[in-house]
Amino acid sequence: MSNKGYRGPPRPAGGGNRHGPSILKDYRNIAVILVFGLTILTLLACLQYDPQGPFDARDYTRMVGMRVEQHPWEALLEPLAAPVLILAGAPDLRIACFAVLIWVFLGAAAWGMFAEFRAQMGKKPFAIVLKGIQRALVASLTLTLIIFFFVVARIPGWRLVVDDPDLVVADLHSHTTKSPDGLVSLKTSLEWHASCGYNLVALTEHDQLFAHETQVQADSSFDRLPAFISGLEAHTGQRAIVLGLCQDPHFQLEKMGLDESQDRTAWFSRKIHEGCGGAVIIVTLKRLGTADIARLADDGVDGFEIANSGHPDLPPYIRQEVLDTCRSRGLVLVASTDWHGWTGLARTWTVIRAPGAAALSHSQRANLVLRKLREHKSADVIPVVAGYMGEPSLVRAIFSPVAETLRYTQELSTYRVISWWIWVWAVFVLWVFLRRIGVRPGSILLASLVGVTGLGLIFSGLSLIRQGTGSATSFPLHIGLISVAIGAASVGYSTFRGVGLLMRMRRKGHLEKHGGD
Ligand SMILES: [Zn+2]
Repeated sequence: MSNKGYRGPPRPAGGGNRHGPSILKDYRNIAVILVFGLTILTLLACLQYDPQGPFDARDYTRMVGMRVEQHPWEALLEPLAAPVLILAGAPDLRIACFAVLIWVFLGAAAWGMFAEFRAQMGKKPFAIVLKGIQRALVASLTLTLIIFFFVVARIPGWRLVVDDPDLVVADLHSHTTKSPDGLVSLKTSLEWHASCGYNLVALTEHDQLFAHETQVQADSSFDRLPAFISGLEAHTGQRAIVLGLCQDPHFQLEKMGLDESQDRTAWFSRKIHEGCGGAVIIVTLKRLGTADIARLADDGVDGFEIANSGHPDLPPYIRQEVLDTCRSRGLVLVASTDWHGWTGLARTWTVIRAPGAAALSHSQRANLVLRKLREHKSADVIPVVAGYMGEPSLVRAIFSPVAETLRYTQELSTYRVISWWIWVWAVFVLWVFLRRIGVRPGSILLASLVGVTGLGLIFSGLSLIRQGTGSATSFPLHIGLISVAIGAASVGYSTFRGVGLLMRMRRKGHLEKHGGD
């Protein structure tokens, strides 16, 4: 084999026929770098400082008697899940994704140009720039594909485990396909909530109360799933979005007939309180001004969201105003997912102290929690988060890839560190093997990654199409079809690329023409 275009460690004499210890010797420098990296990862994981909660979302003190865990089998696939956990554990997932995409684009461009410069000794500047752009596009498209997959698929993430069986772990804000922008059915939502540690879920569909009552009454399999409270999410003013939680299915809420200039929060609170004995929570969004907080509290609401996984970008001054207002007026604070079916990563839980709750039926538990909210038992209602949420500092936002990777390594458990060691050496051995049979490992590993992600997208897309079948909205169907189309294109590309690489190998005589391949 000629050495043209070969950009790795020196190729062993004899065309790759050497075996045993010489393999490690040939790739010694890379092995040393890997040992160094893994040692740093292990040391960081051993540090006493742990940025992972659970924390009380009000003051970020660590919660006692509960912990945030990953599903045990996830440690087996740790390096594969790492990109998601690195990004999803950031203070604001969207900012982290954006920053990582920019860094990957620039890094791949620089790497591509450097490699081309080295190969050509800088003779063709245009070709060098072109190579940089090509590498940058390939890297950022691959990353976008992977991020899209993780957003569409329900990847198991953090789970809150509490020691006291009388603690109710609630999500007081979530959506299903009964909302026009919801992606999952009621059963899928409750199953996902159960896997994240919740035993009570409020289904706060957009402008619709009691969307699920008849379905649940007719199906006893719901008994093994978390209890649920019916609710609705509604705009009651230009900047006010409220959640009304209600257990009395005979209650009917008339249309608000909202005019843009009016604020109907006081009206809504009165209706929910008097009409069905329910509770009203404000969805705290960054569009709220500080003056709005006191006004909404005057309107008779029972509490505010202090953390919302779907809208993590709460500015510090609004957060402080909400904390101060709720403290001075004794209102409750909750941490909700606002889950619509995107990703499978829960970072927020509302834990409610309710002695005897473990022995209660579903509806009794729901009623008990509603009463705690309505009676403003703020000492018994604790908003819990898996880590810091909110606006990251400018430096943390810009250097997200480094900052969030450091944070991630400090969160690692012993099993997950061991998983890293095993995976890295397995991939290293595979990489050495591919080199020795004359394949460029980078190309084949990238094609495999794209192919596997594509298969995952097809699978997730089909699941979404199934969720959307029979639902009032076509939203899951649309997203499912887009996922399947992108997945199929990725699998097609990966197959085409894989076959191309094999054919090139054949031409170069690295595969035996009549071998059993
Ligand atoms: Zn919502």
